[in-house]
Amino acid sequence: MNDLPHCVACGSEYTYEDGDMYVCPECAHEWSKTAPAESADTSRAVTDAHGTALQDGDSVTVIKNLKVKGSSSVVKVGTKVKNIRLVDGDHDIDCKIDGIGAMKLKSEFVKKA
Ligand SMILES: [Zn+2]
Repeated sequence: MNDLPHCVACGSEYTYEDGDMYVCPECAHEWSKTAPAESADTSRAVTDAHGTALQDGDSVTVIKNLKVKGSSSVVKVGTKVKNIRLVDGDHDIDCKIDGIGAMKLKSEFVKKA
């Protein structure tokens, strides 16, 4: 018998395996076998064009003309963006730009201000 871990959500001992996941029949929680039991905050490092680490609340400068999706606006080189928020995804910076509004940027096209 495998020694299955107890449910990380409710502590139930009746967990079972389902492929690469563990499943708890009591609270329906599922979690990956490969993930650490304590959901360690995997803080993904987001870095700017020069490899400088970025954080929520940072100000950055755009280093490339960027077309704004769905409009004719362009975010010009040198545009300052304040108070960024890091998000998951292809475009990993969520921000608001004066005159344009909320948009997402790729961290590779900015540098820390
Ligand atoms: Zn559970």
